[in-house]
Amino acid sequence: MFCTKCGKELPEGAVFCPFCGQKQGAPAEAPASPAPAPESAGYAKPVNQSPIKKARYNILCIIGLVIGAIAIVFSYIPLDLFKVLGVLAGIGAVIVAAIGVVRCNRTNENGRIHGVLGILLGALTIIFVIIDIL
Ligand SMILES: [Zn+2]
Repeated sequence: MFCTKCGKELPEGAVFCPFCGQKQGAPAEAPASPAPAPESAGYAKPVNQSPIKKARYNILCIIGLVIGAIAIVFSYIPLDLFKVLGVLAGIGAVIVAAIGVVRCNRTNENGRIHGVLGILLGALTIIFVIIDIL
């Protein structure tokens, strides 16, 4: 460092210039160390979720799955009436489960796997009955 008045070289950290006596600027303060981040509270933030909505979305997926399961059982009963019912239930399962899956995806809800299974079961039922008829 150099004196701010006479410009002579000074020992590092000198408060007064030994040549002219000029008081030197206060040594640069060490940059304030960032305050330690406060320990985050030990509990998780409450999640912004409506349990009612979640239940509804999951229920649609599960209803689709149940209808799909019923449809596939119907399609195995060797009576034309049940084959018709099976196809109708299969169509219903695909629709209900698809709505459930779309809503699950939109809201990032769990339970879409049930809806996907419901769609598969409903579609399989329809395919089984069509193969059986042909
Ligand atoms: Zn000086």
